[in-house]
Amino acid sequence: MVKTGLGIDIHPLKEGRPCVLGGVEIESEIGPDGHSDADVVLHSLIDALLGAAGLGDIGEWFPDSDKSYKNIDSKILLSRAYNAVRIGGYLVDHIDITIITEVPRISKYKSDMRLKISEIMNISFSQVNIKATTSEKLGFIGRKDGIASMAIVSLVKDDQKEDCIDSDINQLSAQTVAYMGDAVLELYVRKHLLSQGINRGDKLQAEAMKFVSANSQADIVRSIKDKFTEEELRIFKWGRNSSGGCVPKNAEVLDYRYSTGLEALIGYLYIKKNTERLEEIIEYILNK
Ligand SMILES: [Zn+2]
Repeated sequence: MVKTGLGIDIHPLKEGRPCVLGGVEIESEIGPDGHSDADVVLHSLIDALLGAAGLGDIGEWFPDSDKSYKNIDSKILLSRAYNAVRIGGYLVDHIDITIITEVPRISKYKSDMRLKISEIMNISFSQVNIKATTSEKLGFIGRKDGIASMAIVSLVKDDQKEDCIDSDINQLSAQTVAYMGDAVLELYVRKHLLSQGINRGDKLQAEAMKFVSANSQADIVRSIKDKFTEEELRIFKWGRNSSGGCVPKNAEVLDYRYSTGLEALIGYLYIKKNTERLEEIIEYILNK
């Protein structure tokens, strides 16, 4: 079975910003502006990968409210995202990217980008294609105010892949497993709220916060922690201790760490395909 994902990203262009596209430094007086290194090409590719694997989107995985992503090299984000896809049992079959911009001229960098992307993902050069086009001077791209990139990815099942073993998980950072857990929990929470007839956007958002905000997750953990097995406590601590530096404005340090621990545990059970236990823990959470 082939799975397909589409990713689109746009960034403003600003004079004096470094210009990194497709992981390659481009000689240019103008570059994409943004929270991370603003590599619009890799961002579109990451979204396409996550889309094909059904793993949400780049904003959920690497929120720009998280200070640890300020100016981060998007090559790191790409390799984390692809790791998660691999752990899910899929391999990239083919990538096709179209960059739409007036400036800088990128035709001479296209093969470097293909090479860089294939290196990061450990796939062959011929599995990555890069195209460049302009918008014929129309709109914000034509005015050189911004740059856009679109990516499409096809994934195939990795036949060599046994059911997930622990060494897979060790290749991922606890943070990455926690992002996965965060996305999984959010999906369950939304499903639960919808089943209760809560379907208005703002109400849904407010109700969801009772389960997904760091403070409420910390409270939940405090009341259900005694239900964790020894193994689960170990995973919880692994997640909890990983969240050192980055604390969002609206949560206490300890709350944030507890919530990362809980999300890491959910991500772990999800990766291990232990659905029964995963749903049991989600049930504890939803009943708090
Ligand atoms: Zn972006």
